[in-house]
Amino acid sequence: SRQHQLYLTTGSKLYSSLGNVMLVITADTCGRHDTVGGACAAESNTTRYALDKYPMHSCRDNFLHAIAHDPVCERLGMSKRDIPANINFFMNVPVTEAGKLEFADGVSAPGKYVEMRAEMDVVVLISNCPQLNNPCNAYNPTPVRLLIWD
Ligand SMILES: [Zn+2]
Repeated sequence: SRQHQLYLTTGSKLYSSLGNVMLVITADTCGRHDTVGGACAAESNTTRYALDKYPMHSCRDNFLHAIAHDPVCERLGMSKRDIPANINFFMNVPVTEAGKLEFADGVSAPGKYVEMRAEMDVVVLISNCPQLNNPCNAYNPTPVRLLIWD
């Protein structure tokens, strides 16, 4: 990558598809955020867990719902083609020596946070992963709090 690092942390920049800096991470008390695992989806939940998981909620479904129904996304004429590769903040996905991904127990905890400074107007879609199949969160998704200030 442009930043010569797999994992994001304080000082990392998030770039647009045109190469402009959208956001800069200015503080990070967790230290591990996945950039390659992608968002869970009905298809991946079926493959990873079981066929009967297909109708369960997923992050991909949350993104598609937001793009289709959020007034800001609608005003900007956004479609599913505008959903970029996501960042799994607070998710621990180590890459093995063989280049494979592992879904490991998280290293985050209550009170851990990431602070970012927007360098341009941005639309942020957040899916606090709703699926209950991944043992990394002890099968118990927990709340996330978002603060925005000028
Ligand atoms: Zn998810």
